[in-house]
Amino acid sequence: MKKKVCAGCGMVFVAKDGNGNPTCPVCFGTSQHSGMVQEVEISEEKLKVATCAYCRITADKTHWGLNDLPFYEIRNNTFYCGCRGWS
Ligand SMILES: [Zn+2]
Ligand SMILES: [Zn+2]
Repeated sequence: MKKKVCAGCGMVFVAKDGNGNPTCPVCFGTSQHSGMVQEVEISEEKLKVATCAYCRITADKTHWGLNDLPFYEIRNNTFYCGCRGWS
């Protein structure tokens, strides 16, 4: 499936900030391209086996939809499931 990722770092799905503008939690403030989007093709099979960088749970075992895995990183095929809290 086609996914929108940050054009600044090329790694993470673009999130929305408080104003609804696209932003990137990784390179926000460090790259002028933060929040600019780039489309990449990622297979559903790959997203299903994406693992949480902390607890190693796979995406298909969480309640997250494959379309909005938080902090998904293409390079390592990892995301963050929320296991350590959000603050
Ligand atoms: Zn970025
Ligand atoms: Zn986790």
